[in-house]
Amino acid sequence: MQPQISDYSTTYRPTWCPGCGNYGIWAAVRRAFVALKLPPHKILSVYDIGCSGNGSNWLKTYAFHSLHGRSLPAAVGAKIANRELTVMCFGGDGGGLGEGGNHFMHTCRTNIDITYIIHDNQLYSLTTGQASPTSNAGMKTKSTPEGGLLEPLHPLQIAISSGATFAARGYADDIQGLSDTIIKAIQHRGFSVVDILQPCVTFNMLNTRDWYKQHIKTLDSTWNPHDKNAALLNASLMPDGKIPIGVIYQEERKTFEDNKGVNSADPLIRQVKKQRVESLIDTFR
Ligand code: SF4
Repeated sequence: MQPQISDYSTTYRPTWCPGCGNYGIWAAVRRAFVALKLPPHKILSVYDIGCSGNGSNWLKTYAFHSLHGRSLPAAVGAKIANRELTVMCFGGDGGGLGEGGNHFMHTCRTNIDITYIIHDNQLYSLTTGQASPTSNAGMKTKSTPEGGLLEPLHPLQIAISSGATFAARGYADDIQGLSDTIIKAIQHRGFSVVDILQPCVTFNMLNTRDWYKQHIKTLDSTWNPHDKNAALLNASLMPDGKIPIGVIYQEERKTFEDNKGVNSADPLIRQVKKQRVESLIDTFR
């Protein structure tokens, strides 16, 4: 039976601020699940701390809400335990590239088959608007009232150079385009990173919808996502000064699960079940 968007919605209504870019991401993710006909009980969503993490209450899949910056290790553990699950990981630019920056790089190295969605609003917004690793230099925030001193990190260049095999950027208001990108990310075998530019209407007065309209550009069919050098060079900014939207890099490579020892036995979840069943039977002998 064809699933509906409502199959991936709980009875809770989102508490994000009206106009927040998270709504577009939420819609695009559910559209992708519908298009791929993924049953909710076959999906695990692992969340970081942040406004994005509140999505655990209204996206209907299995869910795990991790500690700040620690969503990726939890997602990796779950995927190893049950590689039959579609594992999604959701986090912000703060948790994912600040507290969890180390985990980000090393998960890219594994090339494990997980889709990582970065809700990139260039701020720590749940804590009311402090500078994050992707905030522009000079940006005035609660923690940088005179303007930030540091240059921003570039998540997709880090992802590509650290070994991720799928790197894309989306824009939260382009729901159909973003959904198409998320579909490709889920279908990709390996670690997929989708950095989603997202307006935070309450605290980010620099990267507004008008700002994005002037600064982003959707890649067309002339872009070759298999050219690693071009991807590394242009992932953050194209020669025309625009921020590229779309699949920036993709390669086929052995995943973590393809390794001997990881793939040779039943998934851990089945082994544990088997042991539990056997020990239960033992109690009746
Ligand atoms: Fe969205 Fe910003 Fe409100 Fe958080 S604070 S829900 S990111 S608009």
